[in-house]
Amino acid sequence: MPSDEVSPGRRKVIQGAAAGLAAAFAGNTLADSGSPDASGSTPSTRVSGSAVRDPRSLFPHPPFPEQQQPWPGLAGRMTPRPDHGESSYRGSGLLAGRKALITGGDSGIGRAVAIAFAREGADVSIVYLPAEEPDAQEVVQLIRSAGRTAFALPGDIRDETFCKQMVDRAANGMGGLDVLVNNAGRQHSHDSILDISTEDFDWTLRTNLYGMFWITKAAIPHMPAGAAIVNTSSVNAYDPSINLLDYAMTKAAIANFTKSLAKQLVARGIRVNAVAPGPFWTPLQVSGGQTMKNVVQFGAQTPMGRPGQPAEIAPIYVQLAAARSSYITGQVYGASGGEGQP
Ligand code: NAD
Ligand code: MG
Repeated sequence: MPSDEVSPGRRKVIQGAAAGLAAAFAGNTLADSGSPDASGSTPSTRVSGSAVRDPRSLFPHPPFPEQQQPWPGLAGRMTPRPDHGESSYRGSGLLAGRKALITGGDSGIGRAVAIAFAREGADVSIVYLPAEEPDAQEVVQLIRSAGRTAFALPGDIRDETFCKQMVDRAANGMGGLDVLVNNAGRQHSHDSILDISTEDFDWTLRTNLYGMFWITKAAIPHMPAGAAIVNTSSVNAYDPSINLLDYAMTKAAIANFTKSLAKQLVARGIRVNAVAPGPFWTPLQVSGGQTMKNVVQFGAQTPMGRPGQPAEIAPIYVQLAAARSSYITGQVYGASGGEGQP
């Protein structure tokens, strides 16, 4: 039995701590790092609520400071620190009572999804590499602060046995499983196919494809009709970057897998969709995923002129997981700052 469960009886107490934790995170996120926009006003980093905001003036713009971390990298060591919605996401019960498993839920897009799901009322299990424990523990606290049960499941999804056991642990621990987010990924920049070793190629395919395949197979028997699977593809599926050949082909495969699986799982009442992000400011990019030049200019090439922050994409995952999206399956949703397909 994982040790990170929070009993329902503790939830009310924990909820009280939520505002304090969110405030603490606000000081560490991007709240102070925006530069004045053309009108001279300081950009807000809040994206929730009903206020009308100019998306061009939100969040940090390139150039970013040069930075490099060993793989898999930590969000907590990035400058500026990514905004995962710690201080901004407000739920409205869209996932009340749901039970979600999110791979790569410690940082970046997966963390933003974990925060959003918990604040929408879901219990959340996150999978991550053991080296990411500091990031993961922050996410566990954020899920608990939302009054939900959190399970932390460290391990390597390149290992089939781990994938199977981890899914069973999550489902048994949460008392079910009705949302699976296949989001963990490996991206490593190589200028040429001649520089990609068999070991590298294998690492990328085992993480991005085999892991997803094993986890999905293990999850389906636990999932009731009405459950949802959301996979993370990429703009690279349609418009591959010159330096990400092996990664880009896995992302195209994920988009295709999503469409095939959606057709198969209609028979079980399970919906399957994917999200295809453009450039998002996450540890993946600063731990070997990009050249230093691309890190410094990250997102500059988009019409928006900046990268997305994880908080800006989490609402798509919420929408795709929510029961109200009952006719949406087999689709791929992009968010690329104005470029990209489909
Ligand atoms: P991230 O580094 O925050 O998340 C990736 C996560 O994958 C890591 O946190 C790690 O926990 C997990 N992971 C990697 N290898 C693993 C392994 N062997 N076992 C277990 N977990 C493993 O970066 P992110 O950008 O949020 O990435 C999330 C997803 O988004 C990835 O699939 C990535 O390909 C995709 N994506 C990101 C961008 C972007 O610009 N950031 C663009 C398109 C797609
Ligand atoms: Mg991480």
